[in-house]
Amino acid sequence: MSEPLTFFEQVNRNFDKAAAFTSHPPGILEQIKQINNVIHFVFPIKRDDGSIEVIHGWRAEHSHHRLPTKGGIRYAMTVSEDEVMALAALMTYKCAIVNVPFGGAKGGVRIAAHAYSAAELERITRRYTFELFKKNFIGPGLDVPAPDFGTGPREMAWIADTYSTLAPHDINALGCVTAKPVSEGGIDGRIEATGRGVFYGLREVCSITEDMRALGLTPGLEGKRVVVQGLGNVGYHAAKFLQEEGGAVIVGATEHEGAIAKPSGLKVEALMAHRRETGSILGFEGATDLANRDLGLEIDCDILVPAALENAITMDNAPRIKAKIIAEAANGPTGSEASDFFFERGIMVLPDAYVNAGGVTVSYFEWLKNLEHVRFGRLEKRFTEQSGRRLLTAIEHATGRAFSEHEISSIARGADEIDLVNSGLEETMIESYHGIREIFKRGGGAYDLRAASMIAAIEKIALAYADRGIFP
Ligand code: NAD
Repeated sequence: MSEPLTFFEQVNRNFDKAAAFTSHPPGILEQIKQINNVIHFVFPIKRDDGSIEVIHGWRAEHSHHRLPTKGGIRYAMTVSEDEVMALAALMTYKCAIVNVPFGGAKGGVRIAAHAYSAAELERITRRYTFELFKKNFIGPGLDVPAPDFGTGPREMAWIADTYSTLAPHDINALGCVTAKPVSEGGIDGRIEATGRGVFYGLREVCSITEDMRALGLTPGLEGKRVVVQGLGNVGYHAAKFLQEEGGAVIVGATEHEGAIAKPSGLKVEALMAHRRETGSILGFEGATDLANRDLGLEIDCDILVPAALENAITMDNAPRIKAKIIAEAANGPTGSEASDFFFERGIMVLPDAYVNAGGVTVSYFEWLKNLEHVRFGRLEKRFTEQSGRRLLTAIEHATGRAFSEHEISSIARGADEIDLVNSGLEETMIESYHGIREIFKRGGGAYDLRAASMIAAIEKIALAYADRGIFP
């Protein structure tokens, strides 16, 4: 029996499959595929009890065709060189798919974050940042990390502070990392951006009547039955917006501790409150606890949203999955054989590189904000509002009809930062989907949406190499 493919080999297998449908020179395709830089560092940290622990960290920069490179930092025991390389490559393709002008990168520290105190995590994060700095692997124009599994705004604030301390003359220092707290140069809407992007993507997918008919579904997100695996940052927000803004019914959820089902629909906020109180999603009122967490993926539903870790769906469970649409909110949740299996059976897999690109899209907006040194909307909000009010007053005079204050304030409204961020994200998710779908249609059934999104990425990256030429 042949060895299973590593995660990076799986990503490259997908790349090769897609590249076969393009006509770029083999040398350019090889250059796009390879990791440009990868670094492994080992450093000691002091535990709270005074003992010393040796920590392993990695950072991979996959493609320098655009700078800075961009990608999250993961804290998990599964972190390895292969994993960061695979995730960095996915970042390159993801950025290209959604027209974010960055190369891809990814970092990781091999720790179980929950086994460390906040003070220990701060020491690990600052030392990791220092190692990146020492090796020229961080900077607003070089390589810009973000959160991933096991990290969040708190870690990003530590990174920004460490980098600013080390580079006091860099006026753009805050742009060295994204998804910072808003008080530390972050942007409104970043925390929920990946989950919100999953929602915008699925809403657009479900709005196309022809495609829904082909899946045996009715058009529209309203009433669609959804199961979410992993109620972390991405999974929770995806579930929340799918339910609250899309009218979808969350019929099941899985977490570390188990899985629950409720065909009539779980209230996401109530479920999260229950988990905060009891430490578990199990025992939630009106829901059935399943025998184990993996059974959650097999609940009867229209849309499955794996939002935990990679390889959640393999040939071991793929044949039992009932969803018609699988939206890869996590990175790499579907093994490549399982992905082929779904394609053959006409099940739609919305690839990770597209559907979870909301985070990097809004990170791009945050980076722009940091370089601009001004909050989006600050200059024009009042001006737009006053122009609208003057226009409405002119209409009142011309027609003799007075608008109510409610009408005035909803029509003559200047955009806040969050309005602009969500609008930019919505536009990105909709526009990118149609780009991928067009390539998919062109294939006439020869390849799936994953290959179509990869072809879209390859075309854009190859064009960058062709236009710039190769140094020297
Ligand atoms: P997170 O740590 O906030 O959440 C992950 C959740 O999954 C946790 O609640 C965890 O308990 C749960 N989980 C772990 N193993 C599980 C299992 N076997 N079954 C069910 N639940 C399980 O991480 P996140 O930021 O939400 O990232 C989740 C995935 O999304 C990762 O693959 C990440 O690479 C990807 N992603 C994240 C972002 C982002 O902006 N945070 C952006 C793009 C992609």
